[in-house]
Amino acid sequence: MVEGAARRARVGVMGGTFDPIHNGHLVAASEVQQKFDLDEVIFVPTGMPWMKSDYAVTEGEHRYLMTVIATAANPRFTVSRVDIDRTGPTYTIDTLRDIHAARPDADIFFISGADAIAQILEWKDVEQVWPLAHFVAVSRPGHPLTISGLPEQGVSLLEVPALAISSTDCRSRVSRGFPVWYLVPDGVVQYISKHHLYRSI
Ligand code: ATP
Ligand code: MG
Repeated sequence: MVEGAARRARVGVMGGTFDPIHNGHLVAASEVQQKFDLDEVIFVPTGMPWMKSDYAVTEGEHRYLMTVIATAANPRFTVSRVDIDRTGPTYTIDTLRDIHAARPDADIFFISGADAIAQILEWKDVEQVWPLAHFVAVSRPGHPLTISGLPEQGVSLLEVPALAISSTDCRSRVSRGFPVWYLVPDGVVQYISKHHLYRSI
């Protein structure tokens, strides 16, 4: 780095349905923040997801507020409304363009789990995402961490502590009356209970 030159900001983007946000998401973001020396990780709850048409996704405002509650204690974690405020399905290219427009001075690191990175080639305008962000794929139990078919210089792989937690399982547990304590942050347990989320799915 040139002496006296300002260091470019390094911003992580963690996109997800977050229905609900759980400790697997938070550990993944925290690990990438530390390993990639990120100044900030922006959590971006999706609008109407295009790959999850098999169940009724909870309204964006609930998912947004649970994400705010879950991230509030970490000074490097923030939450963006860009995707829930945009109408129509969420495409990663649009998320990255909006975050880039808001933070034109920052290098962007898009964080996703091994299952999500495997679907990346199906994304809309995939060839246009590479210049906008560096991709960090984190390990996730039950999913091989590979990048076949993806440009090697655009994607990093990172092993993170294995947490076999999914939002699908959290929703299922709540609907069956099982606890989700310690799978999701305490405030999220209380939010789910207060708003009667996931009682019948
Ligand atoms: P669902 O079961 O509804 O698909 P999910 O648990 O997969 O929910 P998402 O909101 O779909 O959560 O995931 C957002 C991002 O977080 C994705 O990139 C996903 O791969 C990653 N992720 C989710 N859970 C974990 C986990 N336990 N470990 C590592 N990464 C995870
Ligand atoms: Mg998922």
